[in-house]
Amino acid sequence: MTVQVKTFGSLSEAAAALAADRAARFFSGGTLLMRAINEGDTTIATLVRATDPTYCQIRNEGQRITIGAGARMVDVLANRDLAFLHPVARVVGGPAVRAMATVGGNLFAPSPYGDLAAALLALDASVRLQGAYGGPQETPLEQFLTGRDRAGSGSLVLAVCVPRPASSDAFRFRKAARVRPKGVSVVSIAAHLPMAGGRIAGARIAYGAMAPTPIRARAVERALEGRSLDAAGIAPALAAAAEGTSPATDALASAWYRREVVAIHLRRLLLGARG
Ligand SMILES: Cc1cc2nc3c(=O)[nH]c(=O)nc-3n(C[C@H](O)[C@H](O)[C@H](O)COP(=O)(O)OP(=O)(O)OC[C@H]3O[C@@H](n4cnc5c(N)ncnc54)[C@H](O)[C@@H]3O)c2cc1C
Repeated sequence: MTVQVKTFGSLSEAAAALAADRAARFFSGGTLLMRAINEGDTTIATLVRATDPTYCQIRNEGQRITIGAGARMVDVLANRDLAFLHPVARVVGGPAVRAMATVGGNLFAPSPYGDLAAALLALDASVRLQGAYGGPQETPLEQFLTGRDRAGSGSLVLAVCVPRPASSDAFRFRKAARVRPKGVSVVSIAAHLPMAGGRIAGARIAYGAMAPTPIRARAVERALEGRSLDAAGIAPALAAAAEGTSPATDALASAWYRREVVAIHLRRLLLGARG
């Protein structure tokens, strides 16, 4: 089947073209999209591209940073303001993938992909969307991910707005993979852990590969509130580690295995252990 490519100068024109055609997909880095086409996905008839330079821009806006959805993992790694996301961008695929894979595309990547999306979820990021009509709208990433697979194609993600972590050591990320350094996730865990008076105050924990989209581990967050970040303080959170998850069984791991090991990786993340 022939696939038509439509290129637009503006993001609003691209968004209108996307919304008008159910068989159209936005072409960002193409790491997943081209694989789908090459594997014979006949639901894709049109690729929509945009050359607007703002699609790839990263802007420091003080308390938060706006990352154009077209910024690639290598762009994240080259940006000093995004140093807190470097440990995440560094483990998305190998060098060839990181040179093409975009931040916007990561929000749509099905489990077990979506490592960066999990990190952005823990950081309480929001998504700037352009629909067919009207101006851009901002939606919490959590809400976007909840409706992502129901909504299907249609809206164009323009950018992700990410608040800076409360302090340089407040944000942590850990990815468990069978092949290091570039394997796909058995599970990935991101944590934003603000502290007040030596106690955790307002933790946000997100998992990748533990559900069809990255999810928040709300039971863990509740169990961490007001606790100290040591073995005794985190014990209730570890007991709740698998609560609310619905991981898949795939070529990397079974759902059972993912539920078994998530507490181990959560413990290592919270206690700052290596390996
Ligand atoms: C070998 C290999 C290894 C990988 N390893 C990892 C890994 O370790 N971790 C990980 O998280 N991912 C991994 N991936 C998956 C993928 O490369 C990344 O998730 C990447 O960030 C996807 O971005 P992309 O720009 O390539 O998406 P694309 O392939 O361009 O798009 C993916 C989907 O999202 C839609 N889309 C993209 N951008 C937008 C937008 N702005 N608005 C609306 N819709 C949009 C597309 O239409 C398409 O349906 C891997 C992929 C491969 C092939």
